[in-house]
Amino acid sequence: MTKSDVFKVALLGIPFDDNSSFERGPALAPSVIREVLSHGSLNGSTELGVNLRESERWLDAGDINVAVPENFIVSIEQGCDQLLSNNTRLLTLGGDHSISYPVLKSYRKHFDQLTILHIDAHSDLYDCFKGNRYSNASPFARVMEDGLCDRLVQVGIRTLNLHQEQQIAKFSVESLEMRHWPLSQPLVFQHPVYLSLDIDGIDPAFAPGVSHREPGGLTTREVINIIHQINMPLVGADVVEFNPNKDIDNMTSQLAAKVVKEIAGKMLLSI
Ligand code: MN
Ligand code: MN
Repeated sequence: MTKSDVFKVALLGIPFDDNSSFERGPALAPSVIREVLSHGSLNGSTELGVNLRESERWLDAGDINVAVPENFIVSIEQGCDQLLSNNTRLLTLGGDHSISYPVLKSYRKHFDQLTILHIDAHSDLYDCFKGNRYSNASPFARVMEDGLCDRLVQVGIRTLNLHQEQQIAKFSVESLEMRHWPLSQPLVFQHPVYLSLDIDGIDPAFAPGVSHREPGGLTTREVINIIHQINMPLVGADVVEFNPNKDIDNMTSQLAAKVVKEIAGKMLLSI
């Protein structure tokens, strides 16, 4: 393999929150996270030993700006297709969680084996929420209907109701609830992994800057350890639902930048 054959990893902003079911704000997240990442208060080193500021394989691909909200699926899918076809893996910054569905539509064309690791307070499996089938409460219903992964593993869940339990059973989702935390066995994957990280999976004590604060969540450390311990290549990721309007003293923007760094390092090492 020559050097040019080695994939790159791109940061890709998707400042789109039209499908937020409660409060807007996540569209502001990509620029806020980028600002922290470039700030002098933190260096480029990740805990796994990758220096992002020195890596030639780490780049910023800018934003996908959705011009027509009704066409968000096509806009985002096509934007991702371009990069994935160019040997570039994606670390996407939402936006609300609805963006994961079109990103994964694109991913599925490039990865015939794929497990999704979904960290979230919510299972996001509503068939339809407040009349919107593409709500930020529904992306994984669409993902499972379209067969966009071989396996969906959810961690951090603490808001299930009867409908969501029925959806979990219908789609054979492995939904690991916080009431049973910690896990009795480590997570083991057989396929390349795509990570979808909803910031509200982390406890609001650490991450208050979200639209749906749900106490009883994961610690920052637990989430970072989960990322580090993924035993198969981490080939893609999104970080969604950070709402800068709800943040307190930049706590959540700093946290988001930290997890973005750790995800990027893990992806770059996933050869
Ligand atoms: Mn959530
Ligand atoms: Mn979510």
